[in-house]
Amino acid sequence: NNNNNIQCLPLMAYGELLGIVVLEGDVVNDPQESLEIEGSRRFALEQVGLSIGNLKLRESLRQASIRDVLTGLYNRRFFDESSQREVLRAQRQQSKGDYDGLALMMIDIDHFKRFNDQHGHEVGDVVLREVAQVLQSQTRGSDVAARFGGEEFTIVLADITDQLALERAERVRKAVEDLVLRPSGKDVGSITISIGLAQFPKHGTSVEALLLAADKALYEAKNSGRNRVVVAT
Ligand code: GH3
Ligand code: MG
Ligand code: MG
Repeated sequence: NNNNNIQCLPLMAYGELLGIVVLEGDVVNDPQESLEIEGSRRFALEQVGLSIGNLKLRESLRQASIRDVLTGLYNRRFFDESSQREVLRAQRQQSKGDYDGLALMMIDIDHFKRFNDQHGHEVGDVVLREVAQVLQSQTRGSDVAARFGGEEFTIVLADITDQLALERAERVRKAVEDLVLRPSGKDVGSITISIGLAQFPKHGTSVEALLLAADKALYEAKNSGRNRVVVAT
């Protein structure tokens, strides 16, 4: 159609190409009118570009505030907030009678101080990242895997039976044990983790109580030989 005019225009923000906008409209013959349309079109595109750019910026700032820089897992702050929320949800769902349960894993790398001493802190950091990746890959979308601090991690599993939670913990433990660690091509052997597992509502109905129970179970796991999962009592 001769009276149709199609324009492809870049959508930019902060010097970054966000996409292409395709505009279709009637051909305008009056040069003055055409100039005005062109002007308002450019203005509109600039506004849209800036809006999208701002949304992206806001999202990346949000990600930075809830993620741990070294491992990319959720940070402690996010863990604190989301676990409270999940436990409240568990209480609500449970009173309705359609909830399987909630589980909290407290995870600690075995003899990591020794590992650092042997291979250096930088290799230690690489291994922390690799362990974190395993934890991430072993969780479902609704689970929260977080770096609790240092070489300690937590995973909160929502709506999961006690039996399944134990199986998942065992799988995580095994996956870390099976990790082939070759930071910069060097063989540094393997690494293991110990896990304390606490379950809602059996071992606590608050985050604090669950953390305490998981911590105690982790202590048991360490004392009874490490590289194992111990369920709270
Ligand atoms: P255990 O089996 O009893 O847990 O022994 P461990 O040596 O792992 O225990 P401990 O908690 O006493 O030591 C933790 C060590 O983890 C201390 C520190 O060297 C190391 N660590 C903590 N945070 C980091 C980190 O961000 N990077 C590296 N490379 N090492 C860390
Ligand atoms: Mg520790
Ligand atoms: Mg440790």
